[in-house]
Amino acid sequence: MKTSSTQPTRASAGFSLIEIAIVVAVIGVLAMVALPNLFSSRKTAEDKVCITNLKALEAAKESWGFEKSKALEDTPTYEDIKPFLSRNQAESICPLGGKYTLGSLQENPTCEYANLGHKLPDEAE
Ligand SMILES: [Zn+2]
Repeated sequence: MKTSSTQPTRASAGFSLIEIAIVVAVIGVLAMVALPNLFSSRKTAEDKVCITNLKALEAAKESWGFEKSKALEDTPTYEDIKPFLSRNQAESICPLGGKYTLGSLQENPTCEYANLGHKLPDEAE
């Protein structure tokens, strides 16, 4: 004798293929919307950290030049300006690991990744 219990009813069969396809499509759309924003905001944050570091280096260079009566062509070493940086500033590094170049007093300090937006805005602006 056949009982109906061997035939699964629709309700106990779990999700149908259509339902799973819809869920996967919704997740795909959400990922398409969210991921580019996530990457771009991460890049913006990295740029800002590096620019903040460059501003601190620039300020320390100016303090060094003023205090030691240096000419515009003089270029400090990192050890020269270290006393003019706070401990946090002295330990801050580029988020991408870029090397900083201090340059002379008439130049802005630069990051190795200036082409990625790690640079101080031009003084002319
Ligand atoms: Zn950088």
